[in-house]
Amino acid sequence: MIPLLELRDVALAFKVPRGVRGRESLLAVDGVSLHVEDGECLALVGESGSGKSTLARIIARLVAPDRGEVLFEGNDLLALGGADLRRVRRALQIVFQDTFTVFSPRQRVRQIIEEPLVVQGLPPATRGECVRRWMGEVGLDQELESRYPHQLSGGERQRVALARSLVLEPRLLIADEPVAALDLPVQVHILDLLDRLRRDHGLALLFISHDLSAVERIADRVVVMNAGRLVEEGTVGEVLGRPKDPHTRALLDAMPRLDPRPTAAQNALGPDSSSPSGPNQVSIPRQ
Ligand code: ADP
Ligand code: MG
Repeated sequence: MIPLLELRDVALAFKVPRGVRGRESLLAVDGVSLHVEDGECLALVGESGSGKSTLARIIARLVAPDRGEVLFEGNDLLALGGADLRRVRRALQIVFQDTFTVFSPRQRVRQIIEEPLVVQGLPPATRGECVRRWMGEVGLDQELESRYPHQLSGGERQRVALARSLVLEPRLLIADEPVAALDLPVQVHILDLLDRLRRDHGLALLFISHDLSAVERIADRVVVMNAGRLVEEGTVGEVLGRPKDPHTRALLDAMPRLDPRPTAAQNALGPDSSSPSGPNQVSIPRQ
């Protein structure tokens, strides 16, 4: 079966000015191969600067890789044009932690969410209905539709960003630290929303996160990135419960654990394997 998304040996180096030695390049993404199946949630974790956002930007065609292939439903994403590209643009959406900063401060919430539908050429009646439906789906009160971005809370703004990325009913959502800047209850709500969209709409997720409890909550599989390379891959239980790579272990030790209760995988390893308590530990409710 053809994966929904497949990356084959993708690499990208940035040119960086470096003192007297002149320009050097930094290998931000270094030979990454991965796949996301239909309706699956793949978590991409890694320390800051490991190349996660660059990889997300390559998949979203915001930046071209130096080498490698990006296949969406088996089609070479980097070679698509015209109607094929428009179709894929609908099916593959991305939401960043700070997505909202790219929105115009002079657009109202309704217009912001509606814009992708305008670009895709949908008729006005359908657009209005879609906007209302997705505002409801992400838990935004209908009366917020005439507000401007600065008149919203952080959580409301992120929900607007999410509604905008979901309004075209994509098959894959790349979510780059989508809840990192939000308060804990809002984080939980949005994670549950993404999880529900997976179940109700068959949405696949490439979920980029620092937060282990978020990963445990919604991901099926995890890949770990370090210095541009994938260093580990497996199910959530395998990677978080029995990490093989030293980078993964270091990352697990450094990551804040929002939920101090041990995972099923940790339970299986016995009491000594649970991580020590720390100042970052806050309990979040699980359903
Ligand atoms: P992450 O999202 O995992 O924190 P990034 O993909 O943002 O990592 O960055 C990976 C590396 O590439 C970092 O060293 C970063 O400084 C560098 N980088 C990212 N974007 C650029 C750019 N536009 N120009 C130069 N270097 C960049
Ligand atoms: Mg990033």
